[in-house]
Amino acid sequence: MSKLVPVFDGHNDFLLRLLQEPAARAQIWDGTAGGGHLDLPRMRAGGFAGGFFAVYIPSPVAHDHPDYEAIMRNPPYSLPLPEPVPYAAALPVAMAMVGHLKWLERQGDLQICTTVAEIRAAMAAGRIAAILHMEGAEAIGPDLDALHVWHAAGLRSLGPVWSRPTAFGHGVPFAFPSSPDTGEGLTPAGKDLVRACNELRILIDLSHMNEKGFDDVAALSDAPLIATHSNAHAVTPSSRNLTDRQLALIAERDGMVGLNYAVGFLRSDGMADTFAGWEPVLRHLDHLIAHLGEERVGLGSDFDGATMPQDLADVAGLPRLLEALRAHGYGEALIARLAHRNWLAALERVWGG
Ligand code: ZN
Repeated sequence: MSKLVPVFDGHNDFLLRLLQEPAARAQIWDGTAGGGHLDLPRMRAGGFAGGFFAVYIPSPVAHDHPDYEAIMRNPPYSLPLPEPVPYAAALPVAMAMVGHLKWLERQGDLQICTTVAEIRAAMAAGRIAAILHMEGAEAIGPDLDALHVWHAAGLRSLGPVWSRPTAFGHGVPFAFPSSPDTGEGLTPAGKDLVRACNELRILIDLSHMNEKGFDDVAALSDAPLIATHSNAHAVTPSSRNLTDRQLALIAERDGMVGLNYAVGFLRSDGMADTFAGWEPVLRHLDHLIAHLGEERVGLGSDFDGATMPQDLADVAGLPRLLEALRAHGYGEALIARLAHRNWLAALERVWGG
């Protein structure tokens, strides 16, 4: 067994867990609370060196809502888009989540990074290198003033939409089987948001965008096209996955895709049910590498935001994933690319050196 390969990851929802249990955040972080997929001891055990930490505003849940998880275990399914969350409702939630990330930084083992040089330094010093990311722009008003405030607070990555409408665009609903071409693209405010992100060099995340929104970003943005946590539609025809045409655009624009471990986006039958072994993971990675090249694929776990494969039950399972890649015939250079090198290079292309 070789020594731990550091993993830099495209997406996690750890801040959502802290939002839901703020009084337990110290015990969640130091691992005594257990549960979930992430905490500091398990990150250390798995070689998790850093990644995108998402600020995501939960949709209000009606008391009579259907059991969406049960529906997604029984494809075909097509979930409705949740109602928009107004700016005034989203703002204090986003503030609380960024507050939790700042609290994590004050504990000393995590650093919020805004440049690749800072990420490299944090990784070398053994601190978790965190990127402040927003999954959905509900906490930004259409005048975009708040974007500049969040940027000043360290925001360097933004998805204009989660799977929900915003002032900026229309997210892709969760559906299987389904094309990602499910509705309208960016609004005029969404186009302004893309231009402003380009000016500020904030990464624009294409995961959760529908196909027209994706194409609008491709037409407007001058940055590499990046989907932080999405898989291959040709392998799993979920609305959340990327078609070969989208992958070709991402390759042409020297972007990047992070592999999502959510079982419903990995299994070819679309069932959001866990599975043993690595076959779906390897099929997606082989397909992404064939279409994007070895330089443009990474990992984008969705830890603390999705159901994981049995053999990757939490972040401490990352060495088993890398071992499965070795057994599949991937060499050490490619594994290092997938694990962290490609993310750092892509961030350099977006943010500048
Ligand atoms: Zn997501």
